[in-house]
Amino acid sequence: MLRFAVVGGGILGAAVARQLLLTDPGASVTLFEKEADFALHQTGRNSGVVHAGLYYTPGSLKAQLCRRGGGMLRDFCVEHDIAYRMCGKVLVALDEQDRARLAGIADRAQKNGVPGVRHLSSGQLRDLEPHVAGIGGLHSPTTAIVDFVAVTRRLAADAEARGAVLRRGSRVTGLRNRGSEAILTAGAYEGAFDQIIVCAGLQADRLAMAAGDGTDPRVVPFRGEYYRLRAEKRDLVRGLVYPVPDPRFPFLGVHLTPRVDGEVLIGPNAVLALSREGYRRFDVSGRDLWDIVRYQGFRRFARANWRTGLAEVRGSVSKAAFAAAARRYVPQLVDDDMIPGPAGIRAQAMDRAGTLLDDFCITTQGRILSVRNAPSPAATSALAIAEHVVGVAAGER
Ligand SMILES: Cc1cc2nc3c(=O)[nH]c(=O)nc-3n(C[C@H](O)[C@H](O)[C@H](O)COP(=O)(O)OP(=O)(O)OC[C@H]3O[C@@H](n4cnc5c(N)ncnc54)[C@H](O)[C@@H]3O)c2cc1C
Repeated sequence: MLRFAVVGGGILGAAVARQLLLTDPGASVTLFEKEADFALHQTGRNSGVVHAGLYYTPGSLKAQLCRRGGGMLRDFCVEHDIAYRMCGKVLVALDEQDRARLAGIADRAQKNGVPGVRHLSSGQLRDLEPHVAGIGGLHSPTTAIVDFVAVTRRLAADAEARGAVLRRGSRVTGLRNRGSEAILTAGAYEGAFDQIIVCAGLQADRLAMAAGDGTDPRVVPFRGEYYRLRAEKRDLVRGLVYPVPDPRFPFLGVHLTPRVDGEVLIGPNAVLALSREGYRRFDVSGRDLWDIVRYQGFRRFARANWRTGLAEVRGSVSKAAFAAAARRYVPQLVDDDMIPGPAGIRAQAMDRAGTLLDDFCITTQGRILSVRNAPSPAATSALAIAEHVVGVAAGER
């Protein structure tokens, strides 16, 4: 009987634990999560969008696993009666530069096999979203919304029903290879496993390095802040309304996001987080900050992108600036329509050259596999990433 440990109870860890048991029902699987419950970090603090696969480089892991994972997620939600709504999304072009970029995105969408994507004239855009202004747009009818926390809890419960042991409140403090085994330490606990799969999100680089993996890439935390739309203004949008993303960055820009509970979020922006898991604006962690500033890759990134960074900080500290960004698409929106909402922190991997890693990244050190970069759309893709990771793990045995 093979013994597996999975570290991290976000959507990826829960999906991997379940997938290990789907693949080998006789395996022993233990899931370690440091918090008292699952999905308290990225998975529970995101936009809740099931991406259709428009943006990603054809052939990349992101492109393949987003398409496959999105379909698997839909089936999972139907099977387990989890709220899932295919509300569609429009990308709004404000000027000719946006329109040219939309042509590139439409081309990628087609190469990635995303169904139903079509260009919109300004009139067609208004028909779909009467309160949204733009010179044109792109419509993706299959983009959806879901409750990723409910999905994660269900995945973990399903893994447990198949025999997994769920250890909440169990912080993994050490990982090492020992001969043909991998040893995991969590405080006073020590266990030997045939393989350990680490899906630790914002702590991914630290645990990978503890396991003897390389120091590159590092996690650089980018905070994403949201406002909520007042209840009486929720009908300003019918579906998801996105700007055309700046191709230099992996973030998609401030968007309007209906949620499955009826709420509408506006955000997220992208500002450097001074604490990896501190969700209040002025949370600072000395260790996290020190890791950022001493990292050569970050210093290079900061030199190249300080102007964009300052603009994002302005939007972060000024509600008026944040509202102005959203008002470009929804002219009727006024500052008072927005009330402060939640914040999430993205675990974005960066290499020594200061480049933000675009694709998902998995590394192996002996019997320990680490998911080192799983930013958006990793929640959408989780079930397919789990299949992929479990396949890679099998190849390493
Ligand atoms: C603001 C924001 C918006 C986003 N929007 C979307 C979206 O709309 N759609 C989409 O598909 N994706 C979106 N994403 C990305 C998505 O949320 C992540 O890609 C996904 O949640 C990653 O899942 P994960 O399980 O790897 O990480 P996490 O959810 O962060 O889980 C990692 C887990 O590991 C645990 N852990 C860490 N260290 C240890 C340790 N030492 N011992 C035990 N446990 C440990 C943590 O406590 C945590 O629970 C967004 C992300 C953010 C931040």
